[in-house]
Amino acid sequence: MSIADARRNILDRIAVSAKRDGRRANDITLVAVSKQQSDERVQAMLETGQSVFGENRVQEAQKRWAHTFSNWRDKIELRLIGPLQTNKAVDACQLFDVIETLDREKLAKALVNAAEKTGKLPTLFVQVNIGEEEQKSGVVPADLDAFIEMLRNTYGIEPEGLMCIPPAALAAGPHFALLKKLATRNGLTKLSMGMSGDFETAIELGATHVRVGSALFGERP
Ligand SMILES: *Cc1c(COP(=O)(O)O)cnc(C)c1O
Repeated sequence: MSIADARRNILDRIAVSAKRDGRRANDITLVAVSKQQSDERVQAMLETGQSVFGENRVQEAQKRWAHTFSNWRDKIELRLIGPLQTNKAVDACQLFDVIETLDREKLAKALVNAAEKTGKLPTLFVQVNIGEEEQKSGVVPADLDAFIEMLRNTYGIEPEGLMCIPPAALAAGPHFALLKKLATRNGLTKLSMGMSGDFETAIELGATHVRVGSALFGERP
């Protein structure tokens, strides 16, 4: 399947799932996760008109979007979906439109300081460790309400939404449903959830952003 056909297929499936949830295809944003993909594949994806991309590493994203594809940078929305170290906060503020992985106070502080330097604070999502897994980053559900209150009251940060990666070995549905509940409870309207294997389930449970890599570009090397 060509990249354009793969994207068409995913967009069709998004439309079907959106309809099942009483929404329109346009209510869902397809984030093309280009991490580790070749320049050829990324170029082909750009030529389809795809305009939202996700990257999980700051340095790799800089190489791709500030150098190789810098001509396209202003035409796309770039989202950081991987963990962010505080010492990369300035770079991340400069490069990304959206950071989906705000998950600790130290990072909130670093981002506010970085925004002062760069003159720009990206849109922020809070990452939730929805399955409470030891190896995963994210705020655990029990701490989320207080974390968001702290962002609002101490740092003047108004997050736009929540993001999660459910445990690989368990059914994703209940985790997606919990993320939606946590968002609603905190007055947040955007939900980044669902990847190649489960984006349809995620949309039926309220996802507004699905992060799809391998099903769009092909397997990563
Ligand atoms: C890699 C990655 C994805 C995309 O995964 P696929 O299974 O290839 O669709 C989505 N979200 C995050 C946070 C990722 O790191």
